[in-house]
Amino acid sequence: MPHLTTGRALETADRTATVTDPHSDKPVLVIGNSYRAFEVIPGHLDDAARQAFTHGQCHAFARALSAATGWPAVALLTEDCHGNDSMCLGGRGAHCPCRIGHLVCLRPDGAHVDINGAHQPLQVPSCANALSLPMTAELWSAIDTSPAWREPNMPVAVSMVAPLLTSLIGDVPHRCEVRA
Ligand SMILES: [Zn+2]
Repeated sequence: MPHLTTGRALETADRTATVTDPHSDKPVLVIGNSYRAFEVIPGHLDDAARQAFTHGQCHAFARALSAATGWPAVALLTEDCHGNDSMCLGGRGAHCPCRIGHLVCLRPDGAHVDINGAHQPLQVPSCANALSLPMTAELWSAIDTSPAWREPNMPVAVSMVAPLLTSLIGDVPHRCEVRA
């Protein structure tokens, strides 16, 4: 049971204990970066969900979205190989798994899709101009086994796919240029 101090949070935690219905309107705790707990209502794509699946659970959402759509998952890379995190293999250049900063899915029109919507390549918020790298089994394994990444909350991630895809309908202001 997470350590929670406010009455509202305690009440929420109590209610989350029995949530199993993916269509419930009760929040569950989704654990993100630095073990921050986000109160997210499954299937409810609101700011809390966007925060959780941007800050520490992007891998879960990318995996869920990729499975549902067939769109390949793509890693957006940080500028440097840190050399000080458990995923660092050193000397692997762009392919060092420690450089994975965010995960998106590559829509057929070239857009990068995450919990916040569809973005032009190189214009994903907080990852502008980041190099991208197709996810491989090796890179997924690096994420799955690294203590630097939280265990993916797949049930909640899966519940966000339909709302996200619905939000994209009619929201295609530009087709991305596809360069040969
Ligand atoms: Zn590295």
